[in-house]
Amino acid sequence: MRLLLVEDDERLSTALAEVLGRAGYAVDRVADGIEAEYLGREEPYDVIVLDLGLPSRPGLEVLRNWRAAGVTTPVIVLTARGAWHERVAGFQAGADDYLPKPFHDEELLARIAAVLRRTHGAEPSALRVGGLALDEEHQQAVLPDGGCVALTATEFRLLRYFMLHPDRPLSKSRLAEHVYAYDDERDSNVIEVYVNRLRRKLGRERIVTRRGQGYLFPSKP
Ligand code: CA
Repeated sequence: MRLLLVEDDERLSTALAEVLGRAGYAVDRVADGIEAEYLGREEPYDVIVLDLGLPSRPGLEVLRNWRAAGVTTPVIVLTARGAWHERVAGFQAGADDYLPKPFHDEELLARIAAVLRRTHGAEPSALRVGGLALDEEHQQAVLPDGGCVALTATEFRLLRYFMLHPDRPLSKSRLAEHVYAYDDERDSNVIEVYVNRLRRKLGRERIVTRRGQGYLFPSKP
């Protein structure tokens, strides 16, 4: 899952990027409103965390412009504590959720996970597809027989993306775009390596190769 973090407080941004990275998100960081608007429009993020007080263009305006341009990526806005008008304005501008500062890391992670599940119509409690469950807290997969399989960070990101988009052919380049951050070296051939690792861990039938189209994660393997 690729995440855009828009926050001009350098210390907070650095700390959050680390937390989000550990939680299995490929994070791009930006501190400036105009740059944020550009990235959010041009890059295929799965979720955006947006501070409202930003240099060069306010977060609310950035959000309004995204929605006006047809960007449907879920957005969680970070608001000042007690500023109820910011929350209202945020929802009116098209936010999916908000979080007042200061907040605990766990709350942000829980809200991001909830927004992602809502957006993809998944069960609210846990991500489950085809008898497989994804334990996001421990970054492991739970097999139908209850066995747990530990996943590396990249395997986890890839599997989560598959599970949020079941029964749809996903090209290698699309998968690479959603698994790696902007500055990472994105080699779509590496996706093949990770797909094969997931197959070894979860069973070959879990990820089907579609010639010329990429891969498909069946909801009924
Ligand atoms: Ca700010």
